[in-house]
Amino acid sequence: MNLEQFQQSMYELIVETSTNLPKDVRRAVKAAVVRENAGTSAAMSLNTITNNIQMADENVSPICQDTGMPTFKVKTPVGVNQLQLKQAIHEALVQATKDGKLRPNSVDSLTGENSGDNLGAGTPVIKFEQWEKDYIDARLILKGGGCENKNIQYSLPCELEGLGRAGRDLDGIRKCIMHSVYQAQGQGCSAGFIGVGIGGDRTTGYELAKEQLFRRVDDVNPNEQLRQLEEYVMEHANELGIGTMGFGGETTLLGCKVGVIHRLPASFFVSVAYNCWAFRRLGVQIHADTGEIQEWFYQDGEKISFDSAQSETEEAKSESRTFTLTAPITEEQIRELKVGDVVKITGRMYTGRDAIHKYLMDHDAPVDLNGQVIYHCGPVMLKDEQGNWHVKAAGPTTSIREEPYQGDIMKKFGIRAVIGKGGMGPKTLAALKEHGGVYLNAIGGAAQYYADCIKSVDGVDLMNFGIPEAMWHLQVEDFTAVVTMDSHGNSLHEHVDKSSLEKLSQFKEPVFS
Ligand code: SF4
Repeated sequence: MNLEQFQQSMYELIVETSTNLPKDVRRAVKAAVVRENAGTSAAMSLNTITNNIQMADENVSPICQDTGMPTFKVKTPVGVNQLQLKQAIHEALVQATKDGKLRPNSVDSLTGENSGDNLGAGTPVIKFEQWEKDYIDARLILKGGGCENKNIQYSLPCELEGLGRAGRDLDGIRKCIMHSVYQAQGQGCSAGFIGVGIGGDRTTGYELAKEQLFRRVDDVNPNEQLRQLEEYVMEHANELGIGTMGFGGETTLLGCKVGVIHRLPASFFVSVAYNCWAFRRLGVQIHADTGEIQEWFYQDGEKISFDSAQSETEEAKSESRTFTLTAPITEEQIRELKVGDVVKITGRMYTGRDAIHKYLMDHDAPVDLNGQVIYHCGPVMLKDEQGNWHVKAAGPTTSIREEPYQGDIMKKFGIRAVIGKGGMGPKTLAALKEHGGVYLNAIGGAAQYYADCIKSVDGVDLMNFGIPEAMWHLQVEDFTAVVTMDSHGNSLHEHVDKSSLEKLSQFKEPVFS
């Protein structure tokens, strides 16, 4: 085996997976764009998403700034040295991280220290298997934390909100799957794809669920009962009205794949792996001697262009009012904003995510945050030879993690706007009302689109927290987001949650043949 060439092939697999969305996924996204009602926030988000997909492809830059947990599945002929392959994969990962194709994503769970190169205990995940064929089949999925946090496992029988009792049968399984889509709302950057594992123990059930994500979006389940179940879920999940980013709309789910394995008599698990629209998984066939790529998987068919679908949805004028804001922002400006308004920010904003929020609770801020905008974002950054920082990818991260801190921090420092994705809870909503603040939902995963809005990096504080967690000072232009929580007590997230729960409870038991 030519290991040098194998390492190069793995590097190409990593870069392509991070930057070039597979064609089967693009086809599903395009169908959603066509289906969406023109002029809505969901249509606007889908257009941003498709622009972002194209920009990532053209710039060979990460589709989303969260480049996820690198998970490889490698099948090798008997006799191939898997230890050497593992070493080559590690080196390819380190190189891809250095080149800004992956964000350093491996964090020590006790110290919070980022290893900086995507290597660490348990990272990356590499699953080897031997097989009788004479070539290597290597597949990779990059699944980010936002959607990973929406994975869920049910132990049957159980009681489910809106659906009642889920028993140990096909209907109980159906209820769990429908509930899994409901509970994700927009927080996993919907519209999403789900892999479902029926049976196993807690560990193998989740493994089976994730394994389903390696199936093609357009394949047909050979098990007739599961085929019908997948079809049912696809049809009805899209009636929940959660929509793109949880803004409401026609498409909530882009794919559903279900697998089954045996279980213990006493256990009955239904495990669901939720993947966002930025469904980055690719695969290659590799020659076992030369280490060269012979074939790419999931990339067959014509090149997918989104242009025609986009222009159809853009024909109708947006239903929303549009405001331009520049920090420092006054309370009066904030009180004018209502849920559904589109806001374009020009000027300064500061990134802040988990470590910063925790820090600000007990410390002074390194800058004056009065009237300022905080962006929940962990960007991919690269430093040039002159020591200047450049943003390679900068989409929003899931905001709900900051719920325990957000309201207090806004009031303590006078922050007027926070930008993130997926919405926040009642504590933040109350603080927005009391203090005069607003929550702006940016389009999750649109890392290239937002990186393009960032015109310069003016500084950075608290680098000791690592690149994704540091406080970056960004100069932006026309950074667009939607008001989903306003200073009058309104939350679009609360509204969509309530209406989708009502719809969920109305689905009757289907008759599967
Ligand atoms: S698209 Fe959203 S859920 Fe997916 S990796 Fe990016 S931020 Fe996370």
